[in-house]
Formats: sequence, structure tokens, C-alpha cells
Amino acid sequence: LTVPDRPIIPFIEGDGIGIDVTPVMKKVIDAAVEKAYAGKRQISWMEVYAGEKSTDVYPDGSGLPAETMEAIRDYVVSIKGPLTTPVGGGFRSLNVALRQKLDLYVCLRPVRYFTGTPSPVKHPEKTDMVIFRENSEDIYAGIEWAAGTPEVKKVIDFLTKEMNVENIRFPESSGIGIKPVSEDGTKRLVRRAIEYAIANDRESVTLVHKGNIMKFTEGAFKNWGYELAKEEFGAEPLDGGPWMKLKNPNTGRDIVIKDSIADAFLQQILLVPEEYDVVATLNLNGDYVSDALAAQVGGIGIAPGANLSDTVAMFEATHGTAPNIAGKDLANPSSVILSAEMMLRHLGWTEAADAVIKAMEGAIASGNVTGDLARLMDKPNQVGCKAFGEELIRQMG
Ligand code: NAD
Repeated sequence: LTVPDRPIIPFIEGDGIGIDVTPVMKKVIDAAVEKAYAGKRQISWMEVYAGEKSTDVYPDGSGLPAETMEAIRDYVVSIKGPLTTPVGGGFRSLNVALRQKLDLYVCLRPVRYFTGTPSPVKHPEKTDMVIFRENSEDIYAGIEWAAGTPEVKKVIDFLTKEMNVENIRFPESSGIGIKPVSEDGTKRLVRRAIEYAIANDRESVTLVHKGNIMKFTEGAFKNWGYELAKEEFGAEPLDGGPWMKLKNPNTGRDIVIKDSIADAFLQQILLVPEEYDVVATLNLNGDYVSDALAAQVGGIGIAPGANLSDTVAMFEATHGTAPNIAGKDLANPSSVILSAEMMLRHLGWTEAADAVIKAMEGAIASGNVTGDLARLMDKPNQVGCKAFGEELIRQMG
């Protein structure tokens, strides 16, 4: 990625607490860039509209104007707050629509612990994982029909008469969803996960699946994952397999490629999180695993994320619009700030990203935190969203 010293970065403010957290994020990131590069580099923020805010500007009411899509595609790197899908706008979810239209097939969710963050587990510092969630397939593809519709009747007819599906309970009162999982969709995701493990000197990549039950979708995901590791990265069986290992060409260290069944995995990440590192998984598993892991290190209020295609990188807050606290200066801005930190690293602006991390460590240790964290701490000093941003800037020195 070639990055000018003053890149234009489109941002979507977001609905609900988007109006609280996004302006604070911009201030904190500007301060970190200034701290690191003393005016030599600067982000030129460009607001683009989506969700509720867009319907004032774009009368089509879809919540996802063409200009916004073009800006995200053309400027390559962007950031967004949470979005409400307008009722009657034509999309089931704006977030899913964005991911599908731009083919943002990776949902990247790093999970790390900042000392002092309240956590429900005894040793949250043992959790340090990076989740690669497949974002474009699986039951989230949106191919489904409601119970009692003519479509359901047709599908049941087809399955029973032409596909010989029998001996299972399958009344017309069933809702039906389709779960597509493809070889190329799986391999492009697992490739990104292994490339990440190599570039960041990580110890293992775990393929998380329910292949014991869903053999041709989740089981195939696992098999294709191992196959890719062997064919493209030269992985070899470990102790006779099925686990594999490959040599990191940069460091010479082994990277273990292993798999775990999703239900057992949810137990293991609580009991032995230190055994897992990079994780590659399907869309629905990834959704559950990402938020469950986020809770272990402080919750979705401080969990960052990004959606990636082969070219476009859209960084985003992982929480929703939190309408219960919107506009009240109560929200924790850390999720979108740490997403912006990932964005700085993606731009290669490592010094500015490091300044954000140092500030976050300092701010959390200071105990001056927003309500979501304060209510779980022994001696907190609850501050608002804006004041937390100021604390972060103060911590940069
Ligand atoms: P939510 O994330 O908005 O809220 C869940 C809980 O977490 C609430 O109690 C909320 O107050 C709290 N919370 C969330 N973010 C917080 C923050 N930054 N600081 C402090 N507390 C925070 O989830 P929800 O209630 O299920 O969804 C609300 C709306 O958001 C829905 O319209 C949903 O469609 C939308 N949503 C959007 C996205 C997105 O844009 N990526 C993601 C999830 C949900």
C-alpha cells in the first residue's frame, strides 16, 4: 500500500453512539499522528454518509448511497461507526450489505488484554488471539424463506421428490435457510489467516468448525484449510496428522495448523486461552467466538475490528448503536479508537499506532474510564466519552 503523507480517509460517523464515539476517535487519532510525526503526516478526514444520517442527504432512503460505496472502494482505507438499518430501506442489514457489495470477505477481530481492564476470567492476560471470520458465506448469505410461504413448499417438494431427502421431520411450517460454504471462499480466508501468522510471527492457526455434524460445509472448511496449508505454504503433518506444521520463512519458527470443534473451542478459550493464537472460522461461529472472546478482555466496548477484501480495508467499531446510551456522552469510544489503531498499522504508521496503544494502557491503568468498565472496577473514576478521549491524549504526553 502506497500511502501519501496526507491520505484522505472516508469515515462514516455512525448512528446512535456513533455521534459520541466517532468525533472522539478522530481527535485521539489526530493527536497520535501529530505526536508521532510532528505535522509531517496528517489524516484528511472525509465524511461519507450511511444509515440514518444519510437519509437527510440522500433521498433514496436506502441508507447506503452509491457515493458512499464508491468512496470506500476508491479511497481503499476507511472507518465506520455502528449503523442502524432504516426500516423499509431494502436491506436486511446495512453492515451485511456493505460487506457483500464490497466483497469484504474477512472480518478481522484481534483480541488483546489491556492491564487493569475488568474481566470475568482470572487470567485475562493469557488471551491474545486474532480471529479471521469468513464474512461472505455460510448461513449469513441471507438465502432464507419464512415458514408457510410458497417458496418453502417448493423447496420441500424439491428436496423430498428430487433430492430424496427423507426420514427427517420436515413440515411446511419450517423456515428454511441455506448455508453455502465454498472451496475458494474458504481458501481465500485461510490464506489471509496464515499470511497474517507468518507476517506477525504467530505460533498457530486454528480452524474452528462443526465438521462433525455439518460435513460438507463445516467439515469441508476444515479439509480445505489443511489442503491450502499444504499446497500453498508447504505444511506437513504433525505427529502423523491431522494437525500440520509449516516453517515461517521469515523467522524459521514453526507455525502449527490445527483445528477445533466449535463447541469444544468455546470451552477451551475459557480454560486454556494460551493454547490459541490466530483463528480462522466460518461466519456464524466467528460471530459468536469474536464477542465471547471480547468479553474475556473487557467487552465489545473496547473490541476493535476490520472488514477486508483483497484491496479494500474498512475498519469498524464492533458494537452496535447502543440506543440506550446514545447522545449522552456515556459510550466507551475505545472500540472505534482501537479500530483506528489497526488502520494506522495498516497504513504503515506504526509510531502513531504505538502511541494509541501506550495511551490506552495508561488510561485504563489510571482508572478514569467510561461506565461500562467503571461499574466492574474496584476503584474507578467514571468519566464520559469525551473525557476518556482527553485522558487518552493526556497519556500520550
Ligand atoms: P449494542 O452493541 O448496540 O449494545 C449491546 C449492549 O452493549 C448495550 O447495553 C449497550 O449499551 C452496550 N454497549 C455497546 N457499545 C457500547 C460502548 N461503546 N460503550 C458502552 N456500552 C456499549 O447491540 P444491540 O443492542 O444488539 O444493537 C443495537 C442496534 O445496533 C441494532 O439496531 C443493531 O442492528 C445495530 N448493530 C449494528 C452493528 C454495526 O453497525 N456493526 C453491530 C451490531 C448491532
